[in-house]
Amino acid sequence: RGLVIAIDGPSGAGKSTIARLLAKRLGYLQIDTGAMYRAAAVLIKRAGLDLADGDAVARFCADLCVRLETDGGVQRVFANGQDVTDQIRTHEVSHLTSRVSALRPVRDALLSAQREMGRQGGVVLEGRDIGTVVFPDADLKFFLSATPEVRGKRRYDELIARGETTTLQETVAAVVQRDEQDSRRDIAPLRRAEDAIDVDSSDMGIDEVVACMEAFVRQ
Ligand code: C5P
Repeated sequence: RGLVIAIDGPSGAGKSTIARLLAKRLGYLQIDTGAMYRAAAVLIKRAGLDLADGDAVARFCADLCVRLETDGGVQRVFANGQDVTDQIRTHEVSHLTSRVSALRPVRDALLSAQREMGRQGGVVLEGRDIGTVVFPDADLKFFLSATPEVRGKRRYDELIARGETTTLQETVAAVVQRDEQDSRRDIAPLRRAEDAIDVDSSDMGIDEVVACMEAFVRQ
């Protein structure tokens, strides 16, 4: 059986890219849990749901089904059957996701899906609470971080490449605000698991980080 590998950390630390490359090297499945929360946020936005309306949120979550599919090396995310991959990475959705993911019914709905997908092993899961909540018994846990400036710059480059208009300053501020929000919430806050291996990617290239993690896996 393959291992369960958890990668947690703040936004822009490079989790998705690194998880994808590590999974590829190991022949594992990558599970981007942030994409799942983002997909839920896109549906909530489309439905015009009021986040303060507990009953409406509960009803929405009872029917929520988020799936990840890999198509030619590209991960696509489906929410209630709709492919929302191209809508999940905007500034607006990032901000909304951070609020949506603090709601208990949303987390409960996605948690069971994540556990189900990872149960068999041979997976690299990445997010904020993998090593603490989703798989506290993961075989290997990494906490990936980088300075806010480096993380903001990475997000900025991503947004510009997607054709969004933003500034570096605005992106750094948004990243810092989202981390604060993710760290301060009561349910499943962004937190380093006690037994996680720290990896600071500020001064490391992607390949270097992946090679470092792979060395731990093969140990
Ligand atoms: O990783 P990514 O930036 O795509 O995640 C988007 C948002 O989803 C995070 O800011 C966080 O609020 C939420 N999230 C979460 N738990 C996870 C993964 C993501 O709350 N395991």
